[in-house]
Parts: sequence; C-alpha cells; structure tokens
Amino acid sequence: MSHEIITSCARMGSHSGIINLLPDRLANQIAAGEVIQRPASAIKELLENALDAKATRIKVIIGDSGKTLIQVVDNGIGMSETDARLCFERHATSKIIETDDLFQIRSFGFRGEALASIAAVAQVELKTKLADADLGTHIIIEGSKVKKQEPTTHATGTSLSVKNLFFNVPARRKFLKSDPVELKHLLEEFARVAIPHPEVFFTLHHNGNELYHFPISNLRQRLLNYFGKSINEKIVPVQEETDFIKVTGFVGKPELIKKTRGDQYIFVNRRFIKSAYLNHAIKMSYENLVPEGQHPFYVLLLEVDPAMIDINIHPTKQEIKFENERLIYNYIKVAVKHALGKYSITPSLDFDAENTQAMGNAGASGRAPTSISSDTVQTAARPFQKQPSEKAKWLEFYEEMAEVTQRELSEAKAVTLSSDWSKGTDEGEPIAQSAFQLHESYIISPIKSGMIVIDQHRAHERILYEQHLKSISDKKMAAQASLFPETIQVEAKYVGLLMDVIEELAYIGFQIEKFGQNTFVVNGVPSDGLRQSTEAFIDQFLETYAANMEIQISIQENVARSMAANSAITKGVRLTSIEMQELIDQLFACEMPYTSPGGKKCFITFGLDEVENRFNS
Ligand code: ADP
Ligand code: MG
Repeated sequence: MSHEIITSCARMGSHSGIINLLPDRLANQIAAGEVIQRPASAIKELLENALDAKATRIKVIIGDSGKTLIQVVDNGIGMSETDARLCFERHATSKIIETDDLFQIRSFGFRGEALASIAAVAQVELKTKLADADLGTHIIIEGSKVKKQEPTTHATGTSLSVKNLFFNVPARRKFLKSDPVELKHLLEEFARVAIPHPEVFFTLHHNGNELYHFPISNLRQRLLNYFGKSINEKIVPVQEETDFIKVTGFVGKPELIKKTRGDQYIFVNRRFIKSAYLNHAIKMSYENLVPEGQHPFYVLLLEVDPAMIDINIHPTKQEIKFENERLIYNYIKVAVKHALGKYSITPSLDFDAENTQAMGNAGASGRAPTSISSDTVQTAARPFQKQPSEKAKWLEFYEEMAEVTQRELSEAKAVTLSSDWSKGTDEGEPIAQSAFQLHESYIISPIKSGMIVIDQHRAHERILYEQHLKSISDKKMAAQASLFPETIQVEAKYVGLLMDVIEELAYIGFQIEKFGQNTFVVNGVPSDGLRQSTEAFIDQFLETYAANMEIQISIQENVARSMAANSAITKGVRLTSIEMQELIDQLFACEMPYTSPGGKKCFITFGLDEVENRFNS
C-alpha cells in the first residue's frame, strides 16, 4: 500500500526531524478507538455492510455479549478474492469514488474504515462468495495481520466473525462494562438497524438462544415483533409527504408515555440518528399530554434527498446536519400532530378542514404544501391553536367551579385535622395547618420561616426508595396482594436483567418466576397494588433499571430506585389533605428528605423576607 511505502521512506530517510509516520497497524488501532468502542459498535458496522451488500436475510450470532463472538452472515452480493483482501485496508470502500459522491450517499458506509478498524483490534474470520463464482474466499486476520487466505466453498454472500474484540488492547477490553450492559447496547444497536428494514429477514442468537426472529413484514409488524404485541392498539400511524421530505412511522398514544427515554427512534434515510431538537418537535406535538420529564413512544422514518443532509459530522454517524433544520422541525411537529389529531388524541381533531382553510389550495389534501418554506409550515401549524367552542367554554367554567368547591372542602378538612399536627416545629418542617395542592403537582404548606413547596412525585420517590432499600437489606419477604398467577412477556433484551433481580423484587413484594424463554409468572405484587398492568409495570421498571446500569450503583440500590421511580405518585394526581399530610410526615421521617434518589430537590422553601423583598423591589 502506498501508505506503507511512505512509512518506510520516512524510516529510512535521514532523521533530521522528530516526526514519524505511524505504521499502518498502529494507525488502524488508534483509529479503531473512534469507530469501534464496544461490541455494539462492531455489530452496527457489520449489519450496515450486509445491508449495503443488498442482503435480504441477515443472521447474527453473538457469544458472551459480543465479547467473544460477533458474527453476521448475509446473503448479499459477496466479494471477489481481491476485494475480500482489500476490504480490510483503511479507506478501502466500494461506495464512493469522488468528492461529489459524498453528497449523494445512499449507502450506510462510505468511509472504508470499519473493517480496517475491526481487524486491527480483533481476530476476524471472513468467508465470502460472489453469486457467479464457483469458489469463495476464506481469510483470517488478527490485529491487522493476515494469518490465512485460501479458497473455500461458501453460499453466495458474506459471513464475517469478530472474535475476542480488543484481544490485543487490554486497556480497552478492561473498560468494557458487565455482560448485561454490553448485551443491552448490542441488542439496542441491532434494533436500530432491524426496525427500519422490515423487508429484510433478521435473526439474532445469543449463547445459543434465539433472542430475535424478525420475518419479512411491514413496519407495524416489525414493531410488534420487537416491542411486543401489546403495543398494537397503542400506536397510530404517521404519514405525510412533500416533494422534499417524507415522514412515515408510528407514534404512541398517551398510554405509551414512559418515564425513561426508552422507545424513541428517528431514522433519516433509514439510518438511526440522535437529535434532541427533533425529539423536542415531537414532544411539542403532544401538547400537554406528556407530563414534565416523561417521554412519548415514537418510531419515525424520514426520507430526504441525501443532498439535504450531511452525515459526515460524527465518527459513528449518529448525528447528522440538515440543510434546513427548522423546516424539518416544523414539518415533523405538524405531521405528528396530524396523526394524533386524526385519532382524537390531541384537541386538533379537524386538521384537514382547518388546514385547507389556512393554506388556501396549497394543502387541499391535508398535506403540508408542496413548495415548503418555514413560513408556510408555520401557517399550517397555527390552526392547531383551536378556538374553544361555546360549549367547551362552559365546560371549563363548570370544571373550575367544581374545583373551587373541592378545594374549599379539603381546606375545611385540613383545618379540622391540623389540631393533630403538633410536631412541625423545627425550622424546615411544615406546620401543616393548611397544606394545599397546587396544580395537582406541588404541595404548599406554611413553615415557621415562610413556606415550603414540595414536589409530590420526588417526595414520594424518596419515601419509597428508602422503604424499598430497607426491605431489601432486611431480606424479609414483603406483604403481598394475593394474586391469581399472571403470565407476562418480557422483552428479550431484559430477560437476563429480570433474572438477576428476582430475589430483590421478592423483598419488595413481587413474586416472580421464569416460565418460558420470554415469559414469567407473577404470583404476587406489593400489597399497595399497581396503577397499571403488571406487564407494563415490570417493563417500565426494567427499562429504568437498565438505564440506571450506566451509573455506578449496586443492584439493591438500583432495584430500590427503579421501583420508586415507577411507583411514586406522578404529577396530575389529586391528593386529599390526609394524603398530603402523610406524605409530608413520611418525607421528613426520611434519612435524606432533601433530594430524590436521583439527587433532585424534593422541596424548596421561601423565606418571608424573600416574599417581602419581592413586594419591595
Ligand atoms: P464502507 O462500508 O465504509 O465502505 P467497510 O470497512 O465497512 O467500509 O467495508 C469495506 C468494503 O468492504 C465495503 O465498501 C464493501 O465493498 C466490502 N464489504 C464489507 N462487508 C461486506 C459484505 N457483508 N458484503 C459485501 N461486501 C462487503
Ligand atoms: Mg461499512
């Protein structure tokens, strides 16, 4: 390779300088750090290569969370003997030839660095054959050194195995997380590729078990295969198209709103991307249906002209730059809103009629206008600010009236109860003559020095967390609601996690047993009961638990935290005065009442002097 020639020239030349060119092998190893950080990054590259090779069947075999084996077998176009050897060279790609191609990329890869990087830090075995060739090629390459190359019989397509990732870079190997964490990342990466390609058959095996089996289908079916059949009734389709952009996919009804940012997928030209900006657009379309700190479900596929985006700004291409981001933002907001409106989920029931009115003839079909500009999109968005009808105004009025009476009632009750409240004398503690609830979210109560505002969710989370942690460390079986045994399905990626915490859950009141591959039987739930179905609750619990695995906390603490986060009362729950007082009591009986388990403030106080200052400024 030309690079090697330059390298050796540099070594032979008179050493008047101190700068050396790095040998290829070392350069590859350093570059690998950028592209290949963990098993999940390797599987992403291999799957993308299989798709780029037009495969319609892709089989993934994983050993030990990808630490010992990641193998991808495809039925794509395969490689010639020359290409099979070349593909491991840096900047060897069949996908672009000149600079202009960079702006018209339709393939997933184009930099030609993935296989070079992987081969630098693993033991790689490649078997590949072109359709019209009799024999294929078998290559073994370890730490960039070719160990073997010979003809072989093989089906058309490619099989690439990555064994013992980072075998020659102990420092990186050491930084890999525990098996469940690496597996979780790996399966997530698999999903990010498999979800937007329902026309491709995928299977995934881990340590001999088939975790995923995705037959060729449509997008809805693929989502049911991955997320479970129970989401079928809870998703609504999104479908909008203009000359510039097409949006398809599904968004979740409010039932699918979760506390952890789990199931949110945006794909641009079927490439998974992360975008806080577009995420915000989607959240905005739900208006006030998504409470603070919670997250709707969505899987949206955007198709745009590759010339409108730059995918070359991030080493693993997870972030992209749009030519006109604001326009896309507005467009997505409108598209999602339209979808939700059609299914009577947001107040904007009548998108089509209103939209037509607002835009004249341009959007007669209910689509955004074809000559899309940010101005017109905004016009299209305005009709959502619906004028309330007369009837709605009256309803609102009556609701307000009802609320006032309710509040008066509870205040009256609070006054009678306040005589029982005797211990609130310490500086910070509420002297709860008349705690009251603000917007079904905060509890306000006078204290000696002024007033206290308690976040009801965080306070309850703190209380439950300390209770759960104690139950777990005491190792006493908790009281349970007797329950008719119920079977639940658990997502494949979470089965291992649930197995790990069955004992801890028992101390909190959940009696769970493994039943089948993805099936568990629940014989008991905590005596307080659950506000949602057992399956939905466990699913959310596991999702929080998995997210918490990123931070360094013990299993016990994680279980207590994730339980608390998912069972604490949320905002929007009306509390009686008795409940408010119990909550205040219990919060201040906690070891650490000031913050939620995640370290966020449970309450804030206002001094009288502060109030006074505000009036005088
Ligand atoms: P890139 O995908 O950016 O081109 P890679 O290092 O991932 O770079 O792959 C290098 C080249 O190897 C590709 O351009 C392609 O020609 C070939 N290749 C890799 N994987 C496969 C596969 N599964 N089937 C056919 N060709 C492949
Ligand atoms: Mg590639």
